[in-house]
Amino acid sequence: MQSTYTIGSRTFVLDKAKAEAALAAKRVVGGRETLSFNLLPLRYGWAYELYRTMKANHWEPEDVQMAKDIEQWRDDRALSEIDRWIVRMGVGYFSAAEGIVGDNVIHVVRELVTASELKLVLGRHAHEENIHADSLLYMIASLGIDPHECEAMFDDVPSIVAKNRFVTDVSHALRRDLDMTDPEAVRLLARNIFVFGQCMEGTQFYGLFGMILSLYRQGKLPGIGTMFRYTLRDESNHIELFRRLLSELAAENPGIWTPAFKDELRELMREAVALEQRFIEDCLPVEGVGLSAEDFTQYVDYIADRRLASAGLDPLHHVALENPLPWLAELMDVRKETNFFEGRVTEYQKASSLALVADEEL
Ligand code: FE
Ligand code: MN
Repeated sequence: MQSTYTIGSRTFVLDKAKAEAALAAKRVVGGRETLSFNLLPLRYGWAYELYRTMKANHWEPEDVQMAKDIEQWRDDRALSEIDRWIVRMGVGYFSAAEGIVGDNVIHVVRELVTASELKLVLGRHAHEENIHADSLLYMIASLGIDPHECEAMFDDVPSIVAKNRFVTDVSHALRRDLDMTDPEAVRLLARNIFVFGQCMEGTQFYGLFGMILSLYRQGKLPGIGTMFRYTLRDESNHIELFRRLLSELAAENPGIWTPAFKDELRELMREAVALEQRFIEDCLPVEGVGLSAEDFTQYVDYIADRRLASAGLDPLHHVALENPLPWLAELMDVRKETNFFEGRVTEYQKASSLALVADEEL
């Protein structure tokens, strides 16, 4: 089918069949190679919807008040030694981890996928990791934590080193020219997407999320708690994005989704859980925040099984686990609350519409 436009003496013939062929050629990997960014026609409508959801959740660290946190940080009676250690481990681990995730999104996953709507949402994902990394900088600077100490944690705390190595090995395995028509290469990418989405962001982030939110629940460090809650809301979209990517990739390449590969993914989750549980013991070497390391290690077992099930894989435990920290589910659901940025959003909108008027007047 063709559309013909005759404007004055010129005639333009647009071939719709070409657009249809382009749509039919869209794939997670191995689709039509193009440098153009034509989003329409959309093949992965969910990716575009997710992009819109993520964009609507935009937040800026500097909008969060840190005055109360600073006051508590300076007051020996306001926080215990273990409260402070959890915060140090939190900023130490996450300031490394956010960057690792963002880097993998940009240099591995976004490089290898071929459909523009997938590149779009992955670009937003990477940007959110930048916001998270920036929020940690803001926390470190506000509290006056020594950034060198924070940096040294990546090298000197063995449980952080081990967690980081687990994911960076998976990422580096793909940083070379790969022939994506080779099922082995597709499987490497699937492993990467599973490890980053379900094992790291989906499971290994949740030990500390739980501890920081536990402090928040006790009225401790409300600014940090608020930033972590906004981060968590973003992470839930990242986990969903990578879950969908994996399922599309497997559906388009059914040859990779073998029982042996599924077992391999489960074993990777088992390793991720063990690494996380070791890390939790380092975060909570003595009881603190009214909770023990055991509560959080059980929580990680619970979360890991949920992630596996959501990826169509068998859980690690034969019995359905219960959430040992039910209050966390409530705190993690930020959507229920009125958005404290609302006033701010209106201002942004006002500012941008004013800018438009100004442009038109020029
Ligand atoms: Fe993040
Ligand atoms: Mn993330």
